[in-house]
Amino acid sequence: AKARGRGAHCFFDESMIQAARERLEIEARLRSALAQGHLRLYYQPQVDIATGRIVGAEALLRWLDPEEGVISPARFISVAETSGVIGPLGRWVMQEACSQGQRWRAAGLPGIRLAVNVSPYQFQLTDVAACAAQALEDSGLPPHCLELELTESALAERPEAMRQVLQRLQALGVRIAVDDFGTGYSSLAHLKRFPIDALKIDQGFIRDIPSSADDMAISATIIAMGRSLGLTVLAEGVETPEQLAFLRARGCDSYQGYLCSRPVPAEQFGALLQAQA
Ligand code: C2E
Ligand code: CA
Ligand code: CA
Ligand code: CA
Repeated sequence: AKARGRGAHCFFDESMIQAARERLEIEARLRSALAQGHLRLYYQPQVDIATGRIVGAEALLRWLDPEEGVISPARFISVAETSGVIGPLGRWVMQEACSQGQRWRAAGLPGIRLAVNVSPYQFQLTDVAACAAQALEDSGLPPHCLELELTESALAERPEAMRQVLQRLQALGVRIAVDDFGTGYSSLAHLKRFPIDALKIDQGFIRDIPSSADDMAISATIIAMGRSLGLTVLAEGVETPEQLAFLRARGCDSYQGYLCSRPVPAEQFGALLQAQA
């Protein structure tokens, strides 16, 4: 009876119960989608700004539900994270991206780098370095063709453990990119402390170029800083020729965005690579 005393009131209302029920339902359906092979990776080109050539592909998850159609990661990644499904799911993504990359290489297509998103939760649940090593070994993809994208929040949470994992990845030859750069727990000290190879400027800073002077100043500063630290800088969410011209003038290395292509299924991405072979 004491446990139910003051402060133990139940604050759940109908909508919270409803939300919790929905998350449980998504979790159960996600587990079975993974088991039944209803998840796919789409690939979005990463383009070298100087040459205009595709030099990489970011792997982006899609859930192809027989009834609902394509479900975007915005709807299920957070459920995967809090339920722990991100562990097996993340392992699958790593394996699948590496295998696909190696299939393109084996088909004689121009060599590209595969960029894979890794959630901060994966670092807590799994040994990400071991997982990458396994995926590289199973697929035969050379380590320098794999890049892991992590967010600043992943770096902030358990910095010492993270530094060790990243050092093991670096020793393997895998590249590390900071995703959504400038939006998170931005600490410039991270760039010094961790073995980072690349920065991805968040699309929020690109969207309003050229109308926002502030966003132009921020993007230009990230590019200049990245370059002087010897990092590769990629701009995300590039949709217009004006945005690309600005980035080129500032010396940005590469870009991703609808200007080149939306994320597409593997087969279509292979055709894009074929076209530039
Ligand atoms: P992100 O890693 O920042 O991925 C970039 C998002 O921007 C993608 O959304 C992409 O489709 C979208 N995008 C690309 N170019 C443009 C553009 O020109 N304009 C606009 N407006 N958007 C563009 P998507 O595919 O819906 O993925 C959303 C987020 O879900 C990703 O953001 C990432 O955080 C997460 N995610 C996707 N796949 C995975 C995965 O395999 N593992 C993990 N942990 N997270 C994933
Ligand atoms: Ca990403
Ligand atoms: Ca991003
Ligand atoms: Ca994002």
